[in-house]
Amino acid sequence: MTHPIESELAAALNERRALHRYRVRRTLESATGATARVDGKEVLLFCSNDYLGLANHPALTRAMQAAAEAVGVGSGASHLVCGHSRYHHQLEERLAEITGRDRALLFSTGYMANMGVIAALVGRGDAVFEDRLNHASLLDGGLLSGARFQRFAHNDVDDLTRRLQKAESGRKLVVVDHVFSMDGDQAPLPELAQAASDNKAWLMADDAHGFGVLGERGAGCAETLSQDELPILMATLGKAIGGFGAFVAGSEALIETLIQFARPYIYTTAMPPAVAAANLAALDLLESEAWRRDTLQRNIQRFRRGAAQLSLPLMPSNTAIQPLQIGPDEQALAMSRALEARGILVSAIRPPTVPEGTSRLRITLSAAHRDEQIDQLLEALAQITAGRD
Ligand SMILES: *Cc1c(COP(=O)(O)O)cnc(C)c1O
Repeated sequence: MTHPIESELAAALNERRALHRYRVRRTLESATGATARVDGKEVLLFCSNDYLGLANHPALTRAMQAAAEAVGVGSGASHLVCGHSRYHHQLEERLAEITGRDRALLFSTGYMANMGVIAALVGRGDAVFEDRLNHASLLDGGLLSGARFQRFAHNDVDDLTRRLQKAESGRKLVVVDHVFSMDGDQAPLPELAQAASDNKAWLMADDAHGFGVLGERGAGCAETLSQDELPILMATLGKAIGGFGAFVAGSEALIETLIQFARPYIYTTAMPPAVAAANLAALDLLESEAWRRDTLQRNIQRFRRGAAQLSLPLMPSNTAIQPLQIGPDEQALAMSRALEARGILVSAIRPPTVPEGTSRLRITLSAAHRDEQIDQLLEALAQITAGRD
């Protein structure tokens, strides 16, 4: 006899399938790069977040091997018990230096960093204000915190200001993505910083998609906003940096508060020290190989020019995230499948990741792409859209 839970779960899964929202995983059989071997087939990848082509860089591999030779694999404990290695420590010092902040604190993942920071800074009696299109981890952090949770209209500083003015007592925390992960557009950080400061609120930005990519030095929004303007900076190491993990950077008091009170920092095993070593090697490349950022920018421009010529539904993005807005879930999925049939992997992003009726092909570009690979994507998109009409 099947347990009643089985049939209940199966019904919910069937419902998701009927909505064309069922997710399936593919199995990678090679390194991640401009191309990869996926489920036995060689494909062009336009969906990874490895924006600088560092995930498979030999310098990262060598750093990881050397550290593993020296100190092994597992960190053995949480940072506060006895898992905080000199590799972690060195990486934190380096991140503070790169972002121009007093200190930085490593987290095992970006998801955990966002949950930890928000819940450590606000709670019952406080208020948290988040952009409607914030990443799930920021929204979950806001909900978990127990603070009064409000979402403001996307990139709408006036809407935020009205809400800030109405909030009475307690701390006020404004939280945004710097680069919105499913849209590729950017938050108006200087204006948000002003609104926060005018209303005695704190500003936090998640630079998961800007760190490594944007700015003269690749330090993202940390380059243009000081610690006073943007007191809480979070970014990840698993995207442009090509490694794994995340960090929060800011004042001494902020970092000490997180060490004492951020539960997803305290109650988890520290990342393997060899991973910290690989992240450090990637930061070296960020400095010594600025051409990666330039190549990425050229690739973005090449894609946008080509897509505009084809009248594809580009979204207003200047970043490595270049989604094509399709609308119906089924159509986005069909296009993703048609691309896959032509040997190109792009994922169809559907609700609940994006709002209803805005399903899209989330195309991401990398410094690893060559011109002809971008042209191949454009050619396939031209064929697919022509076939549809
Ligand atoms: C990917 C991402 C995260 C989560 O980071 P992980 O290290 O992958 O857990 C958080 N915020 C944003 C905006 C992201 O895109």
